[in-house]
Amino acid sequence: MKNKSDNPRVTVTSRGVARLRGGHPWVYRSDVRTTADAEPGSVVTVLDPKSKPIATALYSSASQIAIRAISPEAIPSREWIALLRKRIVDAVAFRRRVVQDSEAYRVIFSEADFLPGLIVDKYGEYLSLQVLTQGMDSRDVRNAIIGTLVAEVSPAAIFERVDPRIRELEQMESRTDSMLWSRDGAELPSKTSFSMNDLRFQFDAVAGQKTGTFLDQRENYSAAARHASGRALDCFTYQGGFALHLNRVCEQVTAVDISRPALEVGEENWKLNKDVFGAREIEWIDANAFDLLRDYADRGEKFDTVVLDPPAFAKSKAATDKALGGYKELNLRALKMLKPGGKLITCSCSFHVGEGEFLEMLGAASADAHRPLRILEKRGQSQDHPVLLNVPETHYLKCIIAEAVWP
Ligand code: SAH
Repeated sequence: MKNKSDNPRVTVTSRGVARLRGGHPWVYRSDVRTTADAEPGSVVTVLDPKSKPIATALYSSASQIAIRAISPEAIPSREWIALLRKRIVDAVAFRRRVVQDSEAYRVIFSEADFLPGLIVDKYGEYLSLQVLTQGMDSRDVRNAIIGTLVAEVSPAAIFERVDPRIRELEQMESRTDSMLWSRDGAELPSKTSFSMNDLRFQFDAVAGQKTGTFLDQRENYSAAARHASGRALDCFTYQGGFALHLNRVCEQVTAVDISRPALEVGEENWKLNKDVFGAREIEWIDANAFDLLRDYADRGEKFDTVVLDPPAFAKSKAATDKALGGYKELNLRALKMLKPGGKLITCSCSFHVGEGEFLEMLGAASADAHRPLRILEKRGQSQDHPVLLNVPETHYLKCIIAEAVWP
């Protein structure tokens, strides 16, 4: 690559070079030698230890991930905005190919769309945007993002969802959740609703932490409904994502979460679908799923379908063993409660627990419970959360659908 730009230059170690050459966009600060005059969030040319340019990247002065590559080519900073626009256009076009039956999906997924630090979700006519890095936070970049999204997606409004902790860590000025743009400058309520898989859900663009549904489970909801039947238990239901889908096909659905506000939204979601459900209610239980599963097991409760979708137990590599212990305990309890031929839909969104380890854990739970498991489907996140082969962090969700064959 020729260095035809006057971008600031950042020199990385040979380990940093190896990562970039291996197709991963990140170089950690420990692999950065010199940063010269690189400003926070600026477009920089990455040099190898022999000062040969090897990539163009966004520089962060605060994050441990100092370098997020945007191209192996030489991109002068004045051309970055045009490239950014093209990447947004590409991301939108990809979703048109892979998303069906949903007004809600992830439009832009950061590194997986070659737009490091930018997340955009669509909920009906609203877009919800999150900026996670200095590189995506400059005024020019933000304006280009909003302008391109308006042109490509024609939303009614664009809201910004702020994670104050990330903005602090990344040393970005503090902001609050707000509407960034609306059609004709209209004042719009933050609440809206959207359809997904022919069900309706509500969305509040500025309430709570993550609201709406977990978009990454969208295709797994449908898959779960294809296998589910009879009496179903949805543990860690949040706002009823799986429970509502199961309620279309199961005789009875019990949904459990430790968060009462989440369950209340779940109930609102149920009401939005009254025409589909008729008199078929969902039983919402506010409880710790670990305790509830133990109580149910003691009482000899049995289910035809159990869903387990706990929060990420392993937030770091070091926490993996403990996390696997938690997963095993849950899965073991669920297996003991399944009727013969019962279906287990079991998920993990911990990136640090790989699919191999997750399956191994499930195998151990199956052996301990004396319940052989037949794998029906090995699934991941929905396709609007693309996985890049050389960027393992983009593949985080596992969803195994299995049948407890006997006794
Ligand atoms: N299945 C949901 C997403 C689950 S997110 C969906 O598809 O939308 C994880 C959920 O687990 C959160 O709602 C959180 O409140 C809940 N949770 C965390 N710890 C819990 C526990 N010990 N018992 C029950 N729920 C718990």
